[in-house]
Amino acid sequence: MGFEDDTGDGPAPPARLAVIGGQLDGLLSDATWQLSDGELEALMEGVCRLVGRVAAARGRLLVEAQVRGFALRQGAVDTAGWLRDRLSLAPSEARRQVALARDVHEVCQATGAALASGELTVEHAVVICQAMRSLPAGVTPEQRVEAERALLGYARSFDPFQLVKLAARQREVLTTVDTSPGGGDPHADSRTGEHNRPGGGAGGEAGGAKEGSGGEDPTPDPADVRRFSLTDTAQGTTLLSGELDAEGAALLRTALDSLAAPRPAADGAPDSRSPARRRADALIDLVGRVLSAGAVPSAGGTRPHLSVTIPWSTLLATGASPAMTSWGLPLPRAVLARLSCDAEISRILLDPAGVPLDVGRTSRTVPAHLRRALTVRDQGCTFPGCDRPPSWCEAHHVIHWRDGGPTALHNLLLLCPAHHRQVHHDGWDIVFAGDRRPEFLPPYRIDPRRRPRRNPYSEPPPDLATTA
Ligand SMILES: [Zn+2]
Ligand SMILES: [Zn+2]
Repeated sequence: MGFEDDTGDGPAPPARLAVIGGQLDGLLSDATWQLSDGELEALMEGVCRLVGRVAAARGRLLVEAQVRGFALRQGAVDTAGWLRDRLSLAPSEARRQVALARDVHEVCQATGAALASGELTVEHAVVICQAMRSLPAGVTPEQRVEAERALLGYARSFDPFQLVKLAARQREVLTTVDTSPGGGDPHADSRTGEHNRPGGGAGGEAGGAKEGSGGEDPTPDPADVRRFSLTDTAQGTTLLSGELDAEGAALLRTALDSLAAPRPAADGAPDSRSPARRRADALIDLVGRVLSAGAVPSAGGTRPHLSVTIPWSTLLATGASPAMTSWGLPLPRAVLARLSCDAEISRILLDPAGVPLDVGRTSRTVPAHLRRALTVRDQGCTFPGCDRPPSWCEAHHVIHWRDGGPTALHNLLLLCPAHHRQVHHDGWDIVFAGDRRPEFLPPYRIDPRRRPRRNPYSEPPPDLATTA
């Protein structure tokens, strides 16, 4: 790990770096337009490969610094801290560099050799090291060697993202095959993904202290990685982030998959939503469906549904204070209009100090008997080209009730959540035709002539006896 092997030939290490620097200066000042295509090709590939080799050289130095306790003597907490201070690196990047250096030195020597030879990129090496660290405790040293060799082979043809998946599959195979207990494994603490082994010379016997857990080492539940957080932003939106195990992810994907499929318009125009938007819409559709079906346990006697507190004046579109969700975020006015198309409304009278004085009965903006009539007439979402069944749908007031529109069949129709959103926020207008069925007028940007469209799926089936 020192430089003693290198003293035999050529200049001392600092002078070598000066030579490399000089050569790089040359490369940087060369006129690239003079290169032939062949030279350009060789240089592009060569310089890219050089990055891995430089990382390998850096890794040897970092390991040496760690072994000597250099960073501590310099007043830094550890080697990563020293890197961070000296080069203003992001903490995660500094830790990544040190972890890679230590891993290729202690655990993944073959990976280190591939990196040093320029065959492997740094990103691939990081994936292989993480994969090797996460191998189950029962894997034998021979299997480890074999696993690393296989991953190095995959790295020649697959990008790092693909390599992560292959590594996960390989770990699964090794976990199933090897169920032998114990086997003092040097990386028993590696499953947590933490790299907090002390820097100084404790190389390789960390498992010794964990004797007690060797015998009945329980297989960790893969679901332990599950986490999901919701973070409110200043813009009134909420960020989602989290991690799922394979089973959880598969369930979620299965549930979202069909809902997130592109929905072409009636005229065949492709769905313009991005895949990310479609997945987000699908998630909200799914949640709305589960809540509507009452499949979620009730909280405090009422079905958990979106609950919004609205000053009466705001509900009637005259007030200035916003509607608030029960999670404390204000709700845009246009969204409020859509939600109150088909909602349960409870009146709660507050005194000037905000204390409830009286609670009125809960009433629906669309009562059950009208809802049933709508189901019979519309048979599902009425938006052109949509085939969502009635149970997915919300009732829409063509003229909103707060603008004087009646809650009656000739002013109501069924829309699935996605199309309800589109009608409220995207400039579609709805009229009832002579046969009392709804027709949709697209916004000008879709059809400048605004020709009415109907949904064949919500028409009664053709009378085959008379059309034949
Ligand atoms: Zn509506
Ligand atoms: Zn629809």
